[in-house]
Formats: sequence, C-alpha cells, structure tokens
Amino acid sequence: MNRLSDIGTIKSILSKHGFSFSKSLGQNFLVNPRVCPEMAAQSGAGSGVGVIEIGPGIGVLTVELAQLADKVVTIELDKRLLPVLDETLAEFDNIKVVNDDILKIDLNKLIEEEFSGMDVVVCANLPYYITSPVIMRLLEERLPIRAITVMVQKEAADRICAPLGTRKAGAVTASVNYYAQAQTLFKVSAGSFMPPPKVDSAVIRLDIRDTSPVEVADEALMFSVIKAAFAQRRKTILNSLKNSLGLDRDKVADALDSCNIPQTARAEQLTLENFADIANALNK
Ligand code: SAM
Repeated sequence: MNRLSDIGTIKSILSKHGFSFSKSLGQNFLVNPRVCPEMAAQSGAGSGVGVIEIGPGIGVLTVELAQLADKVVTIELDKRLLPVLDETLAEFDNIKVVNDDILKIDLNKLIEEEFSGMDVVVCANLPYYITSPVIMRLLEERLPIRAITVMVQKEAADRICAPLGTRKAGAVTASVNYYAQAQTLFKVSAGSFMPPPKVDSAVIRLDIRDTSPVEVADEALMFSVIKAAFAQRRKTILNSLKNSLGLDRDKVADALDSCNIPQTARAEQLTLENFADIANALNK
C-alpha cells in the first residue's frame, strides 16, 4: 500500500517539516488508499508515456504515476512542499518537481523539453479554486496531450460531463466538448481527504479529440455565443445573444432562422452543432 495515503504517515511527515494546510491553495490531501492507484491506472500512464501532474502535495498520486509511466513532471506552487517532496519522492529517478504556477508555466516548452518521443497525459487532484481555468488552459492551448484525468468537485464533474441539450449542461460543457470527450470515472467522498472539503468529488477523464466535432469558421465567436447563451440561461436564445453580445435583434433572429433554431429555445436545449451553426450564421 502507498504509505503516503496513511494519515499517521502524512501527519508525521508534515509535522516534521512544520507544514500547515493552506485553504487558499486548495490543499486537501488524499488519504483514501484506493483512490490514487485507480486514478493512475485509468489516466493512460504506462510504458512510453510521460505524465504532467498538477499540485503533488506530498506526492501520494505522484508515486503511483511514476510506477506506471516513463516519467512524471509534477508542478507545485507551494514552496513549502519542496523539502517534503525531496524526502517522499527520494527513491524515484523518473520524477521531476517543478516549482511553478500551472496557470503561468510554459507548458508547450515543458512538454518539448521533458517528454521527447513520449505520449503525454495529465493527471491531477486539482486545487478546486482554479478547476475551470486549468482545464480550459490545457484544452485551449491545443497541447500535444492525449488525455486529462482530474479530480474535481462532484458538481463540476456533473456539469462538465453532462450531455449537451439537457438542463445539467452549461457553457463549460459545450466548451470542453469541442476539444474532448468527457466522462466521469468514479466518485470520491469528502472523507477521502485531509482536511475534508465541504463537498464530494469525482474523477473525470477528458479524452482529447483528434479532430473537432463541428466545423466553425470563427472559434472565438462560437465560444462567445456559448458564453452569452448560458450567461442568461433562463432567457430565450434570441434575447440572451442580443443582450450579451450587443447584437441587433434582426441579425440574431435571421441567424437563428437560417439554422432552423427556434428563437424561443433556451441555451440548455442546444447542441454543439447548434452553437457552431449560430456562430457560422452570425459570421456571414
Ligand atoms: N496531489 C495531492 C493529493 O492528492 O493529496 C494534493 C492535491 S491538493 C487538492 C492541490 C495541490 O495543488 C496542493 O499541493 C497545492 O499546493 C497545489 N496548488 C495550488 N495552486 C496551484 C497552482 N496554481 N499551480 C500548481 N500547484 C498548485
């Protein structure tokens, strides 16, 4: 068993280094021994694969990934964890710890320098305060990665993995869907963490698409349409696009008519094809 998921071991390592948890950095460490092996196994880590991990904490998931993959580069923002990781990861020669911010580091450069000739996947128990920005950054930069397997709040998992055209869908559902196929792998209870967060969590996997599922002339415009549509999700699509994008009512009405989308439809009823069609019609 991975000793780093044992509460007694964690407490003694952390107290030896005088470490206290930072709420603002989303520090909830996994203490359920079943979670990390399962996450690592389902992440695509294996022979010939390099893994980018975000926020190793004391390294509980890192060691599971390093046992499967050729190499793990793990990015930790909190300097105080570096001496802890020096100790906990000492026996591995295929792990590199980088002290940086996942929202700022140059990931294309990192992949080029660290993972030459390898397939690359991302696997992380994400700090929840930056769930969406991290996921959207990884997708929008079109990094050469195959899959993203991450622990997120259960509510975020439900939203991201919801089928489009249903009430559970949101702007993030449509945006993620454009780049990847999302699925929930398994749920994780709040009690699996120290300290326990207020909500349950789930592990999701995003398998990056080789080709876009819809054809769209102006991607940025499609994402603006998606954002505008869900910003006022109770309003009709006609009104929300008119208001949020500051467009002329007739222009929006004509675009919707040309795509055979009822002007009274709501964002949550629309598919990715619908959003692409609207963007293409507005672009004409
Ligand atoms: N992987 C460990 C585990 O599962 O027990 C820790 C996960 S904890 C939820 C999130 C980790 O992300 C913490 O170690 C935290 O310090 C780190 N972190 C927070 N913000 C970060 C950022 N912007 N860039 C990189 N790491 C960050």
